[in-house]
Amino acid sequence: MSNPGSEEPPSGHNASLLKQFRTHGRGFWHDVAESDWNDWRWQLRNRITTLEQLQRLMPTLTPEEYAGTKLANHKLALAITPYFFNLIDPADENCPIRWQVIPRVEETHTAAWEMSDPCGEDSHSPVPGLVHRYPDRVLFLVTDRCAAYCRYCTRSRLVSNATGYDFHPEFDKQVAYIRSHPEIRDVLLSGGDPLLFNDERLEHLLAQLRAIPHVEFLRIGTRIPIFLPQRITPGLCGMLKKFHPLFISIHSNHPRELTTEVRDALGRLADAGIPLGNQSVLLRHVNDDAEVMKAQIQKLLMCRVKPYYLYQTDLISGSAHLRASVRKGLEIMEKLRGHTTGYAVPTYVIDAPGGGGKVPVSPEYVLSRNADRVVIRNFEGKIFEYPESADGTPQFAAPTEIEEPELA
Ligand SMILES: *Cc1c(COP(=O)(O)O)cnc(C)c1O
Repeated sequence: MSNPGSEEPPSGHNASLLKQFRTHGRGFWHDVAESDWNDWRWQLRNRITTLEQLQRLMPTLTPEEYAGTKLANHKLALAITPYFFNLIDPADENCPIRWQVIPRVEETHTAAWEMSDPCGEDSHSPVPGLVHRYPDRVLFLVTDRCAAYCRYCTRSRLVSNATGYDFHPEFDKQVAYIRSHPEIRDVLLSGGDPLLFNDERLEHLLAQLRAIPHVEFLRIGTRIPIFLPQRITPGLCGMLKKFHPLFISIHSNHPRELTTEVRDALGRLADAGIPLGNQSVLLRHVNDDAEVMKAQIQKLLMCRVKPYYLYQTDLISGSAHLRASVRKGLEIMEKLRGHTTGYAVPTYVIDAPGGGGKVPVSPEYVLSRNADRVVIRNFEGKIFEYPESADGTPQFAAPTEIEEPELA
């Protein structure tokens, strides 16, 4: 039974099953032509966007989901690609995929501390669609649309335009701001999902940004490789590789999302020389469990993706049912560092409520620190000392007599 109040581990929890790469094929859409199925535009045209479609495909809709879906278009639209819908286990109320994309009535409740703009983005926007929070880099919002909508979206105030925010970025103004601010060396395209644009539109925008001499580094934040791997065509990869250095951050939360289709799509991006990172959100019912998280990050490495950030869920209105505690997040991090490949371990961060930026939170490994030593513990709890001198220079031992070796 679904129990939003519990902290029980998410289901689907067998370590070797979690690590398997599977395809779910055409599933519900078995009579659709393979060529349609593999066409990203077909996937977008055939998204599940209404209660009627959802009920037909999933007669097991719970009362919470039914009520949530009825209200969804006033909050954050419902949209799920057929490909991603196939990953849902309709027989399992606690399916970790289901919790991410099927609306629930709890979304309409606003808990204490929750906000519509939890990271204070609007107040850090010098021009619409540009968030300039950090000294040397900007977040560039490209669109308010995504291939599918995550129910915990931190930008649900504008994404999908369900609440009438009416987001109309003006690229000319955004680009002009960057051009006139030489301190901006890093531009992060996000939204909405930038890869929803066709290749030509995206290329035009990337070319404008690349033409600015002080922009050293470009990156794209996207969940399309997970929701719509069909979009990662050879043509797209060939276009993107003209804009190096270009990094991509994907967004995957659960190992079941890493299918053979996703692995192949990520391989195409990696083969285009694009370094890949992943941003996960810590979500109750989805991945608030060390075994699930470990399977997820190890599987990401097998897809050539470096786990970058693990986010504490932002205080977005209507997300309380999906929020795990920071205590839980720290417990999971403790079970990762040292217990698996260092490359697999993400940085756990809280995006400071109100707009302070990302703040790393970590289990405590420094037990004490004073002028002459640091006392640390390792992943097994063993304690070690590292000596230092008060002025921070290395401590050299007093020279000892070294005897000349006798030559034979
Ligand atoms: C996350 C974020 C960035 C990028 O932060 P990094 O730590 O460099 O990945 C930039 N601007 C805004 C507003 C952000 O939220």
